Amino acid sequence: MLIKISYIQGIKGDIKTDFSGVLFHEMIHVWQWNGKGQAPGGLIEGIANFVRFKADYVPNGWVKPGEGQRWDEGYSVTARFLDYCNGLKQGFVAELNKKMRDGYSDNFFSQLLGKTVDQLWKDYKAKFGN
Ligand SMILES: [Zn+2]
Repeated sequence: MLIKISYIQGIKGDIKTDFSGVLFHEMIHVWQWNGKGQAPGGLIEGIANFVRFKADYVPNGWVKPGEGQRWDEGYSVTARFLDYCNGLKQGFVAELNKKMRDGYSDNFFSQLLGKTVDQLWKDYKAKFGN
């Protein structure tokens, strides 16, 4: 809790939204699976922020859709990408999380969406003109 309190002091803007968002993000880590430690850290952070995004806790400073260099860059980049994937198939992120209970493979994306994660990232970038 000490860490969170010092974090709040650095927040500018809508404190209530940001604070709830941070708590929310950390709570998600409690229940999400991490592929027994094999999943990319950026994906773990991206899923946490995706859920936060869905709960409407989007602070200023998040990247716009289509921005970012890599799908597993983490935080808002990965969250936006996961939102795109979830749009292709409702419940995708929940299913991905479920699969990450016992391990992790990039093939989970192909299994759930029929395309490799690299192809999905290309489609996503193309869709938003990036
Ligand atoms: Zn986190």
